[in-house]
Amino acid sequence: AGLVVSFGEMLIDFVPTVSGVSLAEATGFLKAPGGAPANVAIAVARLGGLCAFVGKLGDDGFGRMLAAILRENGVDDSGVTFDNGARTALAFVTLRADGEREFMFYRNPSADMLLTEAELNLDLIRKAAVFHYGSISLITEPCRSAHLKAMEVAKETGALLSYDPNLRLPLWPSAAEARKQILSIWDQADIIKVSDVELEFLTGQDSVEDEVAMQLWRPTLKLLLVTLGEKGCKYYTEDFHGIIDSFAVKQIDTTGAGDAFVGALLRRIVHDQSVLQDEKRLRELLRFANACGAITTTKKGAIPSLPNASEAMQLLESASDMLA
Ligand code: ATP
Repeated sequence: AGLVVSFGEMLIDFVPTVSGVSLAEATGFLKAPGGAPANVAIAVARLGGLCAFVGKLGDDGFGRMLAAILRENGVDDSGVTFDNGARTALAFVTLRADGEREFMFYRNPSADMLLTEAELNLDLIRKAAVFHYGSISLITEPCRSAHLKAMEVAKETGALLSYDPNLRLPLWPSAAEARKQILSIWDQADIIKVSDVELEFLTGQDSVEDEVAMQLWRPTLKLLLVTLGEKGCKYYTEDFHGIIDSFAVKQIDTTGAGDAFVGALLRRIVHDQSVLQDEKRLRELLRFANACGAITTTKKGAIPSLPNASEAMQLLESASDMLA
């Protein structure tokens, strides 16, 4: 009971050994395992939750390495398949001196894009109490159909559906197509988390005010979240909405902060959905999720910096001490 199944891409980010350079200027790169849905799975497991990842990797050294990372972190990898033709996806990514993130993807196609409906471990998906996914797996067939099928099966068996679009514009044929496809599955989810940047992209407005966020509200939703980086997050339900400040930390690398936030949320919700109707307890949960996001920004890379429960509690307690 209480299984979170996270569906989508797992890949390797290559990040420059020194920060603040363009990809062309970088002289060396470090391997950083990633892919938002895989990060979420590991975030849940690190907090002590039960979690499985479903996706496809290349039958190569990198793919085997990524599957081992899932297992070492306590994530069930029985939903992982391997493609013997295509490679594990790679992304070169840097935060340039001008503050812009620069991506270069090697997916032509990569193994994650080739997951088929027939390869889905439906028994595993049927055990999910929470089913989580993004939008990158919607971009091309056959993975798109596999994604839609997995969502359908999870929904049929009564799982709570959690969606973090995780916009990667360069992977889509056009911005219009990205917006259209990302929104095409909006009505299926129970919980949706977007970042401030995604809110502006999806609504076409230059603001994260409540009126703008409400444009993404649907009666089918139980919870809509907008993350605001160091400013914390906003939440919206049928009955209440508000904002929760984050914690003051020394930010080194924000990669994975959103995934840590989602993982923390799902870790708790999978055992107790009643928080969705109780604003006081939901606020407590979102403080916890903010703490997990904040901690993740204090170290380089996503997976190495995801917190365990005691690290998260420490930050929560030290912050309460400061208030007292
Ligand atoms: P990602 O960088 O993984 O794509 P995101 O854009 O989805 O992340 P963010 O808004 O950057 O998500 O971060 C998620 C949460 O982590 C925030 O809501 C906040 O609670 C916390 N957080 C992020 N950055 C900071 C920071 N600099 N200081 C404190 N908390 C932070």
